[in-house]
Amino acid sequence: MFDRFNRQINYLRISVTDRCNLRCRYCMPEQGIKLLRHEDILTYDEITDFTGVAVANGITKVRITGGEPLVRKGIVTLVSMIAAIDGIKDLSMTTNGTLLGQFAGDLHNAGLHRINISLDTIDPEKYANITRKGNVNDVFRGIEAAIKANLVPVKINCVIRESKSEKDALEVAEFCRVNGLGIRFIKEMDLSRGTFSVVDGGSGGHCSACNRLRLTSDGKLKPCLFNDEEYDIRKLGYERAIKMAVEIKPEQGMNNLKNGFYNIGG
Ligand code: SAM
Repeated sequence: MFDRFNRQINYLRISVTDRCNLRCRYCMPEQGIKLLRHEDILTYDEITDFTGVAVANGITKVRITGGEPLVRKGIVTLVSMIAAIDGIKDLSMTTNGTLLGQFAGDLHNAGLHRINISLDTIDPEKYANITRKGNVNDVFRGIEAAIKANLVPVKINCVIRESKSEKDALEVAEFCRVNGLGIRFIKEMDLSRGTFSVVDGGSGGHCSACNRLRLTSDGKLKPCLFNDEEYDIRKLGYERAIKMAVEIKPEQGMNNLKNGFYNIGG
């Protein structure tokens, strides 16, 4: 699929839940969030059928994200359902890693190729503070399990405030070097104000080369992270929603007043 700006759209990011077991300060408010009703969340059959249609239209790369994807019940089953779709060349997941110790092997067996794990600091106190409740040792265990399960390359997503020379970022980089992990530095963004920048070490943020569509857990297909535009796949039908999202995909991001990172998946 090509959009109006001749960008080839071949990457689908699927948010499977708006729930998370952490409350990272830059991502999700600690309280007062109105979570989706159960019946509004796409079923695994719906997600798989939609992904099948997307793949038939040219998607070759799929990432499962959230919220925290590993808190959704039966996530391994969903991975196996998506992995069974013919034509996906790259199937990955973004997770905070805290539950990966128990899931990594099953995810690999289900057909997941590789994984990105979020880690902004290796300092236990700072980690607990940033995430408002996380234990960094759970993430270390998750990383170890991912390597053991061969979910490679394991890449770390590290959110920075200003630069990758900040103390925490330097320590995470050294941790990655020692453990043979990839690293991507993501400058803290604000969807509502439209502050975004390129991802250092990744492909995000380059609007002129953007190849992505994003599906929220309640079935809204979004052509751009920094835009309110969205297409309801249940109302429009899968094929039509995809066509409309690709047709309208904006040249570049502006701002998004409807979503937070936690319900669109980053
Ligand atoms: N729960 C999973 C996790 O923690 O990786 C997946 C969802 S999370 C929204 C996906 C990515 O978005 C994470 O790497 C997270 O650090 C990043 N993220 C969340 N809020 C952000 C913000 N305000 N600016 C930049 N990146 C952000």
